[in-house]
Amino acid sequence: MEPLADKDHRHLWHPFTQMRDWMAEEPVIIERGQGARLWDTKGREYLDANASIWTNIHGHSHPRINAAIRAQLEKVAHSSFLGLSNVPAIELAEKLVAIAPGASVGVQASACLPASEQPKGWTPTGRLTRVFYSDDGSTAVEVAIKMALHYWVHRGQPERRRFVAFTGAYHGDTIGAVSLGGIDLFHATYKPLLFEVKHVVDAAGLKAVLEKHGNEVAAVAIEPLIQGAAGMKLWPRGLLAETRRLCDEHGTLLIADEVMTGFGRTGTMFACQGESVPPDFLCLAKGLTGGYMPLAATLTTERVFDAFLGSYEDQKTFFHGHSYTGNQLGCAAALASLAVFEEERTLERLQPKIGLLRDELKQFCALKPVMEVRQCGFIAGVEVGPYPWQAKAGIRVCQRARELGVLTRPVGNVIVIMPPLCVTEEELRKICEVLRRAVEEVLR
Ligand SMILES: *Cc1c(COP(=O)(O)O)cnc(C)c1O
Repeated sequence: MEPLADKDHRHLWHPFTQMRDWMAEEPVIIERGQGARLWDTKGREYLDANASIWTNIHGHSHPRINAAIRAQLEKVAHSSFLGLSNVPAIELAEKLVAIAPGASVGVQASACLPASEQPKGWTPTGRLTRVFYSDDGSTAVEVAIKMALHYWVHRGQPERRRFVAFTGAYHGDTIGAVSLGGIDLFHATYKPLLFEVKHVVDAAGLKAVLEKHGNEVAAVAIEPLIQGAAGMKLWPRGLLAETRRLCDEHGTLLIADEVMTGFGRTGTMFACQGESVPPDFLCLAKGLTGGYMPLAATLTTERVFDAFLGSYEDQKTFFHGHSYTGNQLGCAAALASLAVFEEERTLERLQPKIGLLRDELKQFCALKPVMEVRQCGFIAGVEVGPYPWQAKAGIRVCQRARELGVLTRPVGNVIVIMPPLCVTEEELRKICEVLRRAVEEVLR
Protein backbone atom coordinates (compact mmCIF):
# COMPACT_ATOMS: atom_id res chain seq x y z
CA MET A 1 0.00 0.00 0.00
CA GLU A 2 1.31 3.45 -0.81
CA PRO A 3 2.41 5.57 2.17
CA LEU A 4 -0.45 8.06 1.83
CA ALA A 5 -3.03 5.29 1.98
CA ASP A 6 -1.35 3.89 5.02
CA LYS A 7 -1.44 7.28 6.76
CA ASP A 8 -5.08 7.68 5.84
CA HIS A 9 -5.83 4.35 7.48
CA ARG A 10 -3.90 5.29 10.58
CA HIS A 11 -5.15 8.83 11.16
CA LEU A 12 -8.41 9.56 9.42
CA TRP A 13 -12.06 9.10 10.22
CA HIS A 14 -14.27 9.52 7.16
CA PRO A 15 -17.87 10.81 7.19
CA PHE A 16 -20.78 8.36 6.92
CA THR A 17 -18.26 5.53 6.65
CA GLN A 18 -17.88 2.25 8.50
CA MET A 19 -14.19 2.62 9.13
CA ARG A 20 -13.56 -1.09 9.53
CA ASP A 21 -14.71 -1.64 5.95
CA TRP A 22 -12.74 1.40 4.88
CA MET A 23 -9.52 0.13 6.41
CA ALA A 24 -9.97 -3.26 4.79
CA GLU A 25 -9.40 -1.86 1.34
CA GLU A 26 -7.05 0.51 -0.38
CA PRO A 27 -8.57 4.02 -0.53
CA VAL A 28 -8.95 6.02 -3.72
CA ILE A 29 -6.97 9.19 -3.12
CA ILE A 30 -7.99 11.99 -5.45
CA GLU A 31 -5.20 14.19 -6.72
CA ARG A 32 -6.70 16.41 -9.39
CA GLY A 33 -9.80 17.18 -11.40
CA GLN A 34 -10.83 18.70 -14.69
CA GLY A 35 -14.42 19.21 -15.82
CA ALA A 36 -16.47 16.19 -14.82
CA ARG A 37 -13.33 14.06 -14.38
CA LEU A 38 -11.15 13.24 -11.39
CA TRP A 39 -7.80 11.47 -11.22
CA ASP A 40 -6.34 9.58 -8.28
CA THR A 41 -2.74 9.34 -7.12
CA LYS A 42 -2.25 6.27 -9.28
CA GLY A 43 -3.28 8.20 -12.36
CA ARG A 44 -6.59 6.38 -12.75
CA GLU A 45 -9.35 8.47 -14.32
CA TYR A 46 -12.94 8.66 -13.03
CA LEU A 47 -16.15 10.38 -14.08
CA ASP A 48 -17.60 12.32 -11.15
CA ALA A 49 -21.15 10.98 -11.42
CA ASN A 50 -22.44 12.52 -8.19
CA ALA A 51 -20.68 15.85 -8.60
CA SER A 52 -18.53 15.20 -5.52
CA ILE A 53 -21.50 14.58 -3.26
CA TRP A 54 -23.85 16.99 -5.05
CA THR A 55 -21.63 20.06 -4.94
CA ASN A 56 -19.88 20.58 -8.25
CA ILE A 57 -21.67 22.62 -10.92
CA HIS A 58 -19.38 23.80 -13.73
CA GLY A 59 -16.69 21.15 -13.42
CA HIS A 60 -13.45 20.82 -11.52
CA SER A 61 -10.64 23.29 -12.04
CA HIS A 62 -12.80 25.65 -14.07
CA PRO A 63 -10.45 28.43 -15.28
CA ARG A 64 -12.93 31.20 -14.46
CA ILE A 65 -13.51 30.04 -10.89
CA ASN A 66 -9.85 29.17 -10.30
CA ALA A 67 -8.86 32.65 -11.49
CA ALA A 68 -11.43 34.32 -9.25
CA ILE A 69 -10.18 32.45 -6.19
CA ARG A 70 -6.55 33.26 -7.08
CA ALA A 71 -7.32 36.94 -7.64
CA GLN A 72 -9.13 37.13 -4.30
CA LEU A 73 -6.28 35.30 -2.61
CA GLU A 74 -3.88 38.00 -3.78
CA LYS A 75 -6.01 40.55 -1.93
CA VAL A 76 -7.09 38.78 1.25
CA ALA A 77 -8.24 35.25 2.06
CA HIS A 78 -10.40 36.00 5.04
CA SER A 79 -11.33 38.79 7.39
CA SER A 80 -14.05 38.75 10.01
CA PHE A 81 -17.65 39.52 9.12
CA LEU A 82 -18.38 40.44 12.72
CA GLY A 83 -18.28 44.20 12.77
CA LEU A 84 -16.72 44.35 9.29
CA SER A 85 -17.87 43.80 5.76
CA ASN A 86 -16.02 42.73 2.63
CA VAL A 87 -16.20 43.27 -1.11
CA PRO A 88 -17.15 39.84 -2.54
CA ALA A 89 -19.66 39.14 0.26
CA ILE A 90 -21.54 42.35 -0.58
CA GLU A 91 -21.48 41.70 -4.31
CA LEU A 92 -22.61 38.12 -3.87
CA ALA A 93 -25.52 39.11 -1.62
CA GLU A 94 -26.76 41.51 -4.31
CA LYS A 95 -26.55 38.76 -6.94
CA LEU A 96 -28.26 36.13 -4.78
CA VAL A 97 -31.14 38.45 -3.97
CA ALA A 98 -31.54 39.23 -7.67
CA ILE A 99 -31.85 35.58 -8.72
CA ALA A 100 -33.68 34.17 -5.68
CA PRO A 101 -37.13 32.62 -6.10
CA GLY A 102 -39.64 35.44 -6.02
CA ALA A 103 -37.31 37.93 -7.65
CA SER A 104 -37.23 36.39 -11.11
CA VAL A 105 -40.95 35.63 -11.18
CA GLY A 106 -41.60 39.27 -10.38
CA VAL A 107 -43.16 38.85 -6.97
CA GLN A 108 -42.82 42.19 -5.26
CA ALA A 109 -42.06 42.21 -1.57
CA SER A 110 -44.74 44.86 -1.36
CA ALA A 111 -47.26 42.22 -2.34
CA CYS A 112 -46.26 40.12 0.63
CA LEU A 113 -45.91 42.85 3.22
CA PRO A 114 -48.47 45.10 4.80
CA ALA A 115 -47.59 48.76 4.16
CA SER A 116 -46.78 49.25 7.82
CA GLU A 117 -43.96 46.71 7.54
CA GLN A 118 -42.34 48.24 4.46
CA PRO A 119 -39.04 49.86 5.31
CA LYS A 120 -39.05 53.57 4.61
CA GLY A 121 -37.25 55.01 1.63
CA TRP A 122 -36.30 51.63 0.28
CA THR A 123 -37.93 49.70 -2.52
CA PRO A 124 -37.48 45.96 -2.36
CA THR A 125 -37.15 44.26 -5.72
CA GLY A 126 -37.91 40.75 -4.59
CA ARG A 127 -39.21 38.81 -1.70
CA LEU A 128 -35.95 37.41 -0.36
CA THR A 129 -33.92 40.52 0.32
CA ARG A 130 -31.45 39.57 3.06
CA VAL A 131 -28.49 37.21 3.03
CA PHE A 132 -26.99 35.65 6.15
CA TYR A 133 -23.78 33.73 5.45
CA SER A 134 -22.52 30.60 7.16
CA ASP A 135 -20.35 27.62 6.27
CA ASP A 136 -22.31 24.61 5.05
CA GLY A 137 -25.78 23.27 4.46
CA SER A 138 -26.33 22.28 8.07
CA THR A 139 -25.49 25.74 9.37
CA ALA A 140 -27.67 27.36 6.70
CA VAL A 141 -30.56 25.33 8.12
CA GLU A 142 -29.59 26.06 11.75
CA VAL A 143 -29.70 29.75 10.94
CA ALA A 144 -33.18 29.44 9.42
CA ILE A 145 -34.44 27.52 12.47
CA LYS A 146 -33.07 30.04 14.96
CA MET A 147 -34.19 33.04 12.93
CA ALA A 148 -37.72 31.66 12.60
CA LEU A 149 -38.07 30.99 16.31
CA HIS A 150 -36.54 34.34 17.23
CA TYR A 151 -38.73 36.14 14.73
CA TRP A 152 -41.87 34.99 16.51
CA VAL A 153 -40.43 36.01 19.88
CA HIS A 154 -39.92 39.50 18.48
CA ARG A 155 -43.40 39.48 17.03
CA GLY A 156 -44.85 38.74 20.46
CA GLN A 157 -45.88 35.18 19.57
CA PRO A 158 -43.39 33.07 21.54
CA GLU A 159 -45.88 30.21 21.50
CA ARG A 160 -44.90 29.71 17.87
CA ARG A 161 -42.02 27.44 18.73
CA ARG A 162 -42.91 24.20 16.99
CA PHE A 163 -41.36 23.08 13.72
CA VAL A 164 -42.90 20.85 11.11
CA ALA A 165 -40.87 18.82 8.64
CA PHE A 166 -41.43 15.88 6.34
CA THR A 167 -40.80 12.20 6.95
CA GLY A 168 -37.62 11.21 5.15
CA ALA A 169 -36.29 14.76 5.30
CA TYR A 170 -32.57 15.44 5.45
CA HIS A 171 -31.40 18.89 6.45
CA GLY A 172 -27.87 18.24 7.66
CA ASP A 173 -26.00 16.69 10.56
CA THR A 174 -25.83 19.33 13.27
CA ILE A 175 -28.31 18.89 16.11
CA GLY A 176 -30.90 21.42 14.95
CA ALA A 177 -30.78 20.12 11.40
CA VAL A 178 -30.97 16.55 12.68
CA SER A 179 -34.05 17.49 14.70
CA LEU A 180 -35.77 18.49 11.48
CA GLY A 181 -34.50 15.35 9.80
CA GLY A 182 -36.70 12.35 9.34
CA ILE A 183 -34.36 9.49 8.43
CA ASP A 184 -34.30 7.02 11.30
CA LEU A 185 -31.04 5.31 10.29
CA PHE A 186 -29.15 8.60 10.61
CA HIS A 187 -31.20 10.33 13.26
CA ALA A 188 -32.78 7.93 15.78
CA THR A 189 -29.66 7.50 17.93
CA TYR A 190 -29.46 11.21 18.66
CA LYS A 191 -33.06 11.51 19.76
CA PRO A 192 -32.20 12.46 23.38
CA LEU A 193 -30.43 15.54 22.03
CA LEU A 194 -33.12 16.69 19.64
CA PHE A 195 -35.99 19.13 19.95
CA GLU A 196 -39.45 17.93 19.07
CA VAL A 197 -40.50 18.25 15.46
CA LYS A 198 -43.80 17.16 13.93
CA HIS A 199 -43.10 15.03 10.91
CA VAL A 200 -45.74 14.74 8.22
CA VAL A 201 -45.82 12.54 5.14
CA ASP A 202 -47.82 14.64 2.72
CA ALA A 203 -49.98 17.71 2.18
CA ALA A 204 -52.95 16.14 3.96
CA GLY A 205 -50.74 15.44 6.98
CA LEU A 206 -49.41 18.98 6.94
CA LYS A 207 -52.93 20.36 6.70
CA ALA A 208 -54.04 18.29 9.69
CA VAL A 209 -51.08 19.38 11.83
CA LEU A 210 -51.50 23.02 10.91
CA GLU A 211 -55.23 22.91 11.60
CA LYS A 212 -54.53 21.52 15.05
CA HIS A 213 -51.35 23.41 15.99
CA GLY A 214 -51.13 26.12 13.30
CA ASN A 215 -50.74 29.01 15.72
CA GLU A 216 -47.89 27.25 17.54
CA VAL A 217 -45.84 26.54 14.45
CA ALA A 218 -42.77 28.70 13.85
CA ALA A 219 -41.97 27.24 10.45
CA VAL A 220 -42.41 24.35 8.06
CA ALA A 221 -39.26 22.98 6.42
CA ILE A 222 -39.13 21.24 3.07
CA GLU A 223 -36.68 20.06 0.45
CA PRO A 224 -38.50 21.44 -2.60
CA LEU A 225 -39.50 19.04 -5.42
CA ILE A 226 -37.22 16.21 -4.32
CA GLN A 227 -35.89 14.71 -1.10
CA GLY A 228 -32.22 13.91 -1.59
CA ALA A 229 -30.85 11.75 1.18
CA ALA A 230 -34.19 9.95 1.49
CA GLY A 231 -33.24 8.34 -1.82
CA MET A 232 -34.08 10.92 -4.49
CA LYS A 233 -37.79 10.80 -3.71
CA LEU A 234 -39.95 13.06 -5.85
CA TRP A 235 -42.76 15.03 -4.31
CA PRO A 236 -46.08 14.88 -6.12
CA ARG A 237 -46.44 17.88 -8.41
CA GLY A 238 -48.01 20.76 -6.51
CA LEU A 239 -46.97 19.69 -3.03
CA LEU A 240 -44.57 22.60 -2.69
CA ALA A 241 -47.16 25.15 -3.79
CA GLU A 242 -49.70 23.56 -1.47
CA THR A 243 -47.20 23.75 1.39
CA ARG A 244 -46.73 27.47 0.69
CA ARG A 245 -50.50 27.96 0.61
CA LEU A 246 -50.99 26.13 3.92
CA CYS A 247 -48.17 28.15 5.55
CA ASP A 248 -49.86 31.37 4.42
CA GLU A 249 -53.26 30.19 5.59
CA HIS A 250 -51.88 29.50 9.06
CA GLY A 251 -49.57 32.51 9.09
CA THR A 252 -46.43 30.46 9.49
CA LEU A 253 -43.05 30.61 7.76
CA LEU A 254 -41.68 28.34 5.04
CA ILE A 255 -38.07 27.15 5.05
CA ALA A 256 -36.95 25.88 1.65
CA ASP A 257 -33.83 23.77 1.98
CA GLU A 258 -32.25 24.05 -1.47
CA VAL A 259 -28.85 22.90 -0.31
CA MET A 260 -29.02 20.06 -2.84
CA THR A 261 -31.47 21.43 -5.41
CA GLY A 262 -30.07 24.95 -5.75
CA PHE A 263 -28.04 26.18 -8.71
CA GLY A 264 -29.61 24.43 -11.62
CA ARG A 265 -29.88 20.84 -10.47
CA THR A 266 -33.60 20.57 -11.08
CA GLY A 267 -33.40 22.38 -14.43
CA THR A 268 -34.21 25.86 -13.09
CA MET A 269 -31.85 27.94 -10.97
CA PHE A 270 -33.80 26.97 -7.87
CA ALA A 271 -36.33 24.18 -7.35
CA CYS A 272 -38.80 26.64 -5.81
CA GLN A 273 -39.08 28.27 -9.25
CA GLY A 274 -40.47 24.97 -10.53
CA GLU A 275 -43.70 25.78 -8.69
CA SER A 276 -43.27 29.57 -8.49
CA VAL A 277 -43.02 29.41 -4.73
CA PRO A 278 -41.16 32.11 -2.84
CA PRO A 279 -40.15 30.77 0.59
CA ASP A 280 -39.50 32.84 3.72
CA PHE A 281 -36.10 31.23 4.13
CA LEU A 282 -33.93 29.84 1.35
CA CYS A 283 -31.02 27.67 2.50
CA LEU A 284 -28.12 27.42 0.06
CA ALA A 285 -24.78 25.68 0.29
CA LYS A 286 -23.39 22.76 -1.77
CA GLY A 287 -23.48 24.31 -5.27
CA LEU A 288 -23.24 27.93 -4.09
CA THR A 289 -19.51 28.17 -4.80
CA GLY A 290 -19.76 25.89 -7.82
CA GLY A 291 -18.58 23.18 -5.45
CA TYR A 292 -15.21 24.79 -4.68
CA MET A 293 -15.41 26.10 -1.13
CA PRO A 294 -17.50 25.58 1.98
CA LEU A 295 -19.86 28.54 2.00
CA ALA A 296 -23.55 28.76 2.78
CA ALA A 297 -26.26 31.38 2.75
CA THR A 298 -29.67 31.70 4.36
CA LEU A 299 -31.81 34.19 2.49
CA THR A 300 -34.82 35.72 4.13
CA THR A 301 -37.42 38.44 3.74
CA GLU A 302 -37.47 42.05 4.81
CA ARG A 303 -40.35 41.14 7.08
CA VAL A 304 -38.21 38.72 9.10
CA PHE A 305 -35.22 41.05 9.02
CA ASP A 306 -37.27 44.01 10.22
CA ALA A 307 -38.45 42.19 13.32
CA PHE A 308 -34.84 42.09 14.54
CA LEU A 309 -34.39 45.87 14.30
CA GLY A 310 -34.44 47.86 17.50
CA SER A 311 -32.27 49.80 19.86
CA TYR A 312 -29.19 48.06 21.21
CA GLU A 313 -30.89 47.76 24.60
CA ASP A 314 -33.90 45.98 23.07
CA GLN A 315 -31.57 43.00 22.55
CA LYS A 316 -33.25 42.11 19.31
CA THR A 317 -29.91 41.22 17.77
CA PHE A 318 -29.62 37.86 16.03
CA PHE A 319 -27.00 36.24 18.23
CA HIS A 320 -25.46 33.83 15.78
CA GLY A 321 -22.32 33.76 13.68
CA HIS A 322 -19.31 31.71 12.68
CA SER A 323 -15.62 32.54 12.51
CA TYR A 324 -15.63 32.18 8.74
CA THR A 325 -18.93 33.95 8.04
CA GLY A 326 -18.73 35.77 4.71
CA ASN A 327 -15.37 34.23 3.79
CA GLN A 328 -13.90 36.14 0.86
CA LEU A 329 -12.48 33.17 -1.03
CA GLY A 330 -15.83 31.39 -0.87
CA CYS A 331 -17.75 34.49 -1.94
CA ALA A 332 -15.32 35.08 -4.82
CA ALA A 333 -15.83 31.50 -5.98
CA ALA A 334 -19.61 31.89 -5.73
CA LEU A 335 -19.56 35.12 -7.74
CA ALA A 336 -17.48 33.43 -10.42
CA SER A 337 -19.83 30.45 -10.48
CA LEU A 338 -22.83 32.74 -11.03
CA ALA A 339 -20.91 34.54 -13.78
CA VAL A 340 -20.25 31.19 -15.47
CA PHE A 341 -24.00 30.46 -15.42
CA GLU A 342 -24.44 33.54 -17.62
CA GLU A 343 -21.33 33.28 -19.75
CA GLU A 344 -21.77 29.61 -20.58
CA ARG A 345 -25.58 29.76 -20.66
CA THR A 346 -25.42 26.81 -18.31
CA LEU A 347 -29.17 26.38 -17.74
CA GLU A 348 -30.00 26.65 -21.43
CA ARG A 349 -27.35 24.10 -22.37
CA LEU A 350 -28.49 21.82 -19.59
CA GLN A 351 -31.96 21.24 -21.04
CA PRO A 352 -30.96 18.79 -23.83
CA LYS A 353 -28.79 16.91 -21.31
CA ILE A 354 -31.84 16.49 -19.08
CA GLY A 355 -33.56 14.92 -22.09
CA LEU A 356 -30.58 12.66 -22.75
CA LEU A 357 -30.55 11.59 -19.10
CA ARG A 358 -34.25 10.74 -19.42
CA ASP A 359 -33.53 8.52 -22.44
CA GLU A 360 -30.60 6.85 -20.73
CA LEU A 361 -32.68 6.19 -17.61
CA LYS A 362 -35.28 4.36 -19.69
CA GLN A 363 -32.66 1.74 -20.42
CA PHE A 364 -32.24 1.12 -16.69
CA CYS A 365 -35.93 0.22 -16.44
CA ALA A 366 -35.25 -2.79 -18.65
CA LEU A 367 -32.80 -4.24 -16.11
CA LYS A 368 -34.23 -6.86 -13.80
CA PRO A 369 -32.69 -5.67 -10.51
CA VAL A 370 -34.07 -2.14 -11.10
CA MET A 371 -37.24 -1.39 -9.18
CA GLU A 372 -37.80 2.24 -9.99
CA VAL A 373 -36.08 5.11 -11.74
CA ARG A 374 -36.70 8.67 -10.58
CA GLN A 375 -35.64 11.93 -12.19
CA CYS A 376 -36.02 15.58 -11.31
CA GLY A 377 -34.22 17.72 -13.84
CA PHE A 378 -30.56 16.72 -13.72
CA ILE A 379 -30.92 14.61 -10.58
CA ALA A 380 -31.64 10.91 -10.90
CA GLY A 381 -31.99 7.96 -8.57
CA VAL A 382 -32.05 4.37 -9.74
CA GLU A 383 -33.54 2.14 -7.07
CA VAL A 384 -32.55 -1.52 -7.14
CA GLY A 385 -34.18 -4.25 -5.14
CA PRO A 386 -35.95 -4.96 -3.03
CA TYR A 387 -32.85 -6.04 -1.11
CA PRO A 388 -32.37 -5.89 2.66
CA TRP A 389 -29.98 -3.07 3.59
CA GLN A 390 -27.51 -5.68 4.91
CA ALA A 391 -27.02 -6.88 1.34
CA LYS A 392 -25.22 -3.58 0.58
CA ALA A 393 -26.60 -3.72 -2.94
CA GLY A 394 -26.12 -0.01 -3.60
CA ILE A 395 -22.63 -0.01 -2.12
CA ARG A 396 -21.53 -3.01 -4.17
CA VAL A 397 -22.86 -1.55 -7.41
CA CYS A 398 -20.98 1.68 -6.78
CA GLN A 399 -17.79 -0.23 -5.93
CA ARG A 400 -17.98 -2.02 -9.24
CA ALA A 401 -18.71 1.24 -11.06
CA ARG A 402 -15.64 2.74 -9.46
CA GLU A 403 -13.50 -0.07 -10.86
CA LEU A 404 -15.01 0.81 -14.22
CA GLY A 405 -14.14 4.49 -13.83
CA VAL A 406 -17.35 6.06 -12.49
CA LEU A 407 -17.62 7.58 -9.01
CA THR A 408 -20.90 7.87 -7.16
CA ARG A 409 -22.35 7.01 -3.77
CA PRO A 410 -25.63 5.26 -3.16
CA VAL A 411 -28.28 6.18 -0.63
CA GLY A 412 -29.39 2.75 0.50
CA ASN A 413 -30.49 0.87 -2.58
CA VAL A 414 -30.63 3.99 -4.69
CA ILE A 415 -27.81 4.72 -7.12
CA VAL A 416 -27.43 8.46 -7.52
CA ILE A 417 -26.71 10.05 -10.89
CA MET A 418 -26.14 13.80 -10.71
CA PRO A 419 -22.93 14.80 -12.46
CA PRO A 420 -21.70 18.39 -12.73
CA LEU A 421 -23.99 20.38 -15.05
CA CYS A 422 -21.04 20.79 -17.42
CA VAL A 423 -20.81 17.04 -18.12
CA THR A 424 -20.68 16.34 -21.85
CA GLU A 425 -23.27 14.15 -23.57
CA GLU A 426 -20.61 11.56 -24.21
CA GLU A 427 -19.57 11.52 -20.56
CA LEU A 428 -23.18 11.28 -19.44
CA ARG A 429 -23.74 8.30 -21.74
CA LYS A 430 -20.62 6.63 -20.37
CA ILE A 431 -21.75 7.19 -16.76
CA CYS A 432 -25.09 5.55 -17.45
CA GLU A 433 -23.55 2.73 -19.47
CA VAL A 434 -21.08 1.91 -16.70
CA LEU A 435 -23.74 2.03 -14.01
CA ARG A 436 -26.02 -0.27 -16.01
CA ARG A 437 -23.16 -2.69 -16.44
CA ALA A 438 -22.36 -2.53 -12.72
CA VAL A 439 -25.99 -3.19 -11.79
CA GLU A 440 -26.12 -6.18 -14.11
CA GLU A 441 -22.82 -7.67 -13.02
CA VAL A 442 -23.30 -7.20 -9.29
CA LEU A 443 -27.01 -7.98 -8.93
CA ARG A 444 -27.42 -10.59 -11.57
C1 LIG B 1 -26.29 18.02 1.99
C2 LIG B 1 -27.56 18.61 2.49
C3 LIG B 1 -27.60 19.35 3.69
C4 LIG B 1 -26.39 19.49 4.57
O1 LIG B 1 -25.38 20.21 3.96
P1 LIG B 1 -23.87 20.06 4.51
O2 LIG B 1 -23.11 21.05 3.71
O3 LIG B 1 -23.48 18.65 4.25
O4 LIG B 1 -23.92 20.39 5.96
C5 LIG B 1 -28.78 19.94 4.05
N1 LIG B 1 -29.90 19.80 3.31
C6 LIG B 1 -29.90 19.10 2.16
C7 LIG B 1 -31.17 19.01 1.39
C8 LIG B 1 -28.75 18.47 1.73
O5 LIG B 1 -28.77 17.74 0.61
